[in-house]
Amino acid sequence: MSDTNTNAAVRVRFAPSPTGKLHVGGARTAIYNWAFARANGGTFVLRIDDTDPTRSTEENTQIILRAMRWLGLDWDEGPEVGGQFGPYFQTERMDIYREAAERLVAEGHAYYCFCSPEQLAADREAAKERGDSFQGYQRTCRGIDPEVAQARVAAGEPHTIRIKVPEDRGDVVVRDAVHGEVVFNARELDDFIIFRSDGTPTYNFATVVDDAEMGITHIIRGDDHLSNTPRQVIVYEALGAPTPIFAHISMILGSDGKKLSKRHGATSVEEYRDAGYLSDAFVNYLALLGWAPDGESTVISRERLAREFSLDHVSKNPAIMDPKKLDFINAEYLHAMDDAGFAHDVLLPQLNAAGLDDGTQHDESWYLMASAAFKPRCTLSSDVVAQARYLYTPDDELVYDEKATKRWLAKQGARAALEAASEALAKLDEASWGPAAIEEALEPLPEQLGMGKGKVFQPIRVACVGGAASPGIGETLALLARAHTLARIERAKELAQ
Ligand code: GLU
Repeated sequence: MSDTNTNAAVRVRFAPSPTGKLHVGGARTAIYNWAFARANGGTFVLRIDDTDPTRSTEENTQIILRAMRWLGLDWDEGPEVGGQFGPYFQTERMDIYREAAERLVAEGHAYYCFCSPEQLAADREAAKERGDSFQGYQRTCRGIDPEVAQARVAAGEPHTIRIKVPEDRGDVVVRDAVHGEVVFNARELDDFIIFRSDGTPTYNFATVVDDAEMGITHIIRGDDHLSNTPRQVIVYEALGAPTPIFAHISMILGSDGKKLSKRHGATSVEEYRDAGYLSDAFVNYLALLGWAPDGESTVISRERLAREFSLDHVSKNPAIMDPKKLDFINAEYLHAMDDAGFAHDVLLPQLNAAGLDDGTQHDESWYLMASAAFKPRCTLSSDVVAQARYLYTPDDELVYDEKATKRWLAKQGARAALEAASEALAKLDEASWGPAAIEEALEPLPEQLGMGKGKVFQPIRVACVGGAASPGIGETLALLARAHTLARIERAKELAQ
């Protein structure tokens, strides 16, 4: 076992900013944090990084929490569940950041800066003209006597607070569980701002104060934050807090190798949920996008993920979103459901959402039969609606698919097939109407008519369903019921030759 995976007191956090919905990249970050906590008997913290008041909304927070619940990523500490390191909304922690910043100033690890934006711009210009390779902050206020600085602050002079990067700090080496050692030149880091002049903390500061206070041991997040990490290391050091282990996971890209965006289709968790993906399948798919317990498995249960997830097997290569693979995994999960589970969790909610059936139109056995019939034909949960729609259309409003009509109904022999079918099926009474009896009744027809099976059964199918694809003819007609079947065959005869 490696040292990145055996810490008994593992504490990880997922810290979304509620500036938008939960996207697939964020969802995968959340999944990895959750799985890492579970695999190590650790604690999974959810923290809402809502310090950007112009872009954070309560609505987005709710959307994120809902998405987390849909994904089944239960958090041990955070909104709604609380915990001993709360509050878990950054906007409620402003005093903590201010105190931490003031402590750093008092200890000489940070200082007040009074440079105006104009001054800073002029300094940058001058550095450029000098041909100085460093065009960042010139440390103008670093030398101000602390007492003088305090007095200026007390007098209300606008100021920021900057971290004092130690002169002799040397390179900042980030040890990353995914990327290995990444070296940053401390000189390039600037004495960066930790508190803005409007009195709000910067991301690099608030995050580290929280992660340190909350005892976070491993920081698993997107590698768009790798470049922030050396600054955060400087803050840990200034605070005198241990630096956690970092694991920066790759971005998720679209199939064209570009950052995943709307152009590629769905990007938010909710869109996938609404499109008919199962939570378990979606989590499975995202977990394997950049992590693999072995080289083979495509279907791994949530339990296995929670048992076996390790940072050692996380790839640093960009992950490419592969909708076909997601569909494949989703179909696997759907097909593995038992009929009762499918009826309850997929069929009925989908029919209800489509306004077709609120669960009172048929009896339990009918829903089970429908589940058995449609389940193998579904890739997405929502596919069941198209499959079942023929069962909820009035007989005289059934629309016949043009291609299917041309191919199967408007063909020599179709009429004879439909007539023979009506005759055979009419002999079955309501009580014996079921898949086996229907198939038995229809089975002799091809021979009787001297026609191929397709030529006999496809016209019947098109007549009853409107299209050429449906479950087995016995189930298809059994679900439709006797009266509707006979009425539809009758109606279709007019189109048949
Ligand atoms: N709120 C930050 C984000 O959503 C968190 C980054 C981090 O994990 O440190 O990008």
